[in-house]
Amino acid sequence: MSTLTGLQCPECGEEYEADVVQTVCESCDSPLLARYDLAQTARALQRERVSGRPAGLWRWAELLPVRDPEKRYTLGEGDSPLLPLRRIGERLGLKRLYVKDEGVNPTGTFKARGMAVALSRAIELGVEEVGAPTAGNAGGALANYAARARVPAHVYMPRDAPASNQAEVLAAGSDLQLVEGTIEDAGRKAAAEARTRGWMNLSTFREPYRVEGKKTMGLELAEDFEWELPEVVIYPTGGGTGLVGMWKAFEELEEMGWVDSSRPRMVSVQSEACAPIVDAMQSGADRAVAAQSDPTRAPGLRVAKPYADRLILRALRESGGAAVAVSEGQIAASEAELASSEGIFACPEGAATLAGLELLVEAGDIKPDDRVVLFNTGHGLKYLS
Ligand SMILES: *Cc1c(COP(=O)(O)O)cnc(C)c1O
Ligand SMILES: [Zn+2]
Repeated sequence: MSTLTGLQCPECGEEYEADVVQTVCESCDSPLLARYDLAQTARALQRERVSGRPAGLWRWAELLPVRDPEKRYTLGEGDSPLLPLRRIGERLGLKRLYVKDEGVNPTGTFKARGMAVALSRAIELGVEEVGAPTAGNAGGALANYAARARVPAHVYMPRDAPASNQAEVLAAGSDLQLVEGTIEDAGRKAAAEARTRGWMNLSTFREPYRVEGKKTMGLELAEDFEWELPEVVIYPTGGGTGLVGMWKAFEELEEMGWVDSSRPRMVSVQSEACAPIVDAMQSGADRAVAAQSDPTRAPGLRVAKPYADRLILRALRESGGAAVAVSEGQIAASEAELASSEGIFACPEGAATLAGLELLVEAGDIKPDDRVVLFNTGHGLKYLS
């Protein structure tokens, strides 16, 4: 059973009722975060019991927002493998390099985690029609979970999104709206349509539950490493849901006594084509400034001004982490190396983490026996046109 107690604004601390549809904090324009009765969870549940449950992210039901088991829609998301990268590790002089391979998720990316939880919770709260802007993968995930749950969905996608994303939205029977411009343009259109037509907008961080789904990557990581978190996590950052979600997971696990206070250094990797978080880390700002946004082979990273900028930057800094920008050429080279030397056909966003790791290794920022985890957020097969 979920132990959700409410929602809270991480900026002003204001609390919001969780059992009605909510969006963002009225005074701070900040995302809202879900809060749980962690003391109760820690008393009633042992981590070994969670590990013994059937695979999938709903194993973590106590720490997820959906109360009614009948409303937990699933396509088998979660429990992605943590794979050692022995050859690449050897080349870089790292003894313990891993990839968490999210490409095995339904719809081929980790967007499945966020949409499984957000859509399930929306339906539990009585929502009957949904939509979202997307660079591509979130739309594919939304369309398929909406088909599964039999609710109509509207997907707003830049016209230049990968063909596979458009195909999967149409195949699932969702309303696909191709938009001129970037995900920001798609976002404005989706928000306007949601207001006039009255459907719920599941846009990144405009509702509190996609991040809860992505939080399960952090829960799994703790479990994968037998409750001793790794030293470094390298994450391809667009809207930052995964990064913020994992950081939240670690805090909740510590509060339950399931991990100690040590934390990975969290590293955001972005493309040189669009790197607002890298810019903000360099300038010491606590907000991102809208960055240039050029086309990139990693469309999931093309978010000029992430809505959750404050949360992303706070997690990076509190962790002692960093943000690095990589070139298109470095991303392509990393895609090739992951496939040819490890058998992992990664998405460009995922491959970018290897390119980012190389920069950190060159700078002497990684110790040879650090446990380092790259996040491959999706499958390369989704990017063929
Ligand atoms: C959306 C997306 C990202 C960025 O994810 P955030 O958690 O929003 O930063 C990275 N990789 C892929 C493949 C994506 O689809
Ligand atoms: Zn607030």
